[in-house]
Amino acid sequence: MIDLTSKKMLSGRLNPIIDAALEAERDQQEARRYLGGSRLGVECERQLQYEVFATPKDPEKDFPGRILRVFERGHWAEAAVVRWLQLAGVTILIEDEGGGQFGFSDFDGLFQGHCDGILTGGPESFGPFPRLWENKCIKADDWRALSSHGLRKEKPVYWAQCQVYMDRFGLTENPALFSAVNADTMEIYWEAVPHNPQAVAALDAKAGRILQACLAGEQLPRLSQDPNFYQCKWCSWRKRCHGLA
Ligand code: SF4
Repeated sequence: MIDLTSKKMLSGRLNPIIDAALEAERDQQEARRYLGGSRLGVECERQLQYEVFATPKDPEKDFPGRILRVFERGHWAEAAVVRWLQLAGVTILIEDEGGGQFGFSDFDGLFQGHCDGILTGGPESFGPFPRLWENKCIKADDWRALSSHGLRKEKPVYWAQCQVYMDRFGLTENPALFSAVNADTMEIYWEAVPHNPQAVAALDAKAGRILQACLAGEQLPRLSQDPNFYQCKWCSWRKRCHGLA
């Protein structure tokens, strides 16, 4: 007789129920229909157009429940780091007057972003203040690579996000403070990210180019003509973009 209470069987029965509930919850949520400041560093401009239009992903490309749980872990880690910063004596603003995340909206609402927080005071080691704060929770391999090579080289999308947010939130005087929590060990990597006006100008031009093309109904060129290019392999619109069955 099959033992439906064995450890393995139980996980195999219960996890799909949780995952299905998470996926159903995700499907109820209204899709984002703007260019996200946190995404502008993504290299492929056509991919960002798909995001602006909330274009349906290729079959099997929607995030499964397990990945949705990973995303949720990112929110817990962010809340934990806020608490740890406060315990260490840092003053951190995480909500605007309306109780929402600090946000910006540009290009008639087609370009938006929300920051994790603004550090306004505290021990000198965490300064100079005020400064933007962005946090991620990442897997151990990525965390080690980030610790070795730095944010710009290892996670250019997050680096670009810091640049855009420093600019839009008027926090360019002092370097942003970026933190990354190692999801395995809970070690924290910290990096000061100085404002880079040239990069911001290039990112602004990119946002304008993408949104103008979207408004004109034009599709921007592919990043690669090869559907097996590594970035295309990860892309949620690979089949649609390359006209694959
Ligand atoms: S499949 Fe490749 S070229 Fe097409 S949108 Fe995705 S990353 Fe860009």
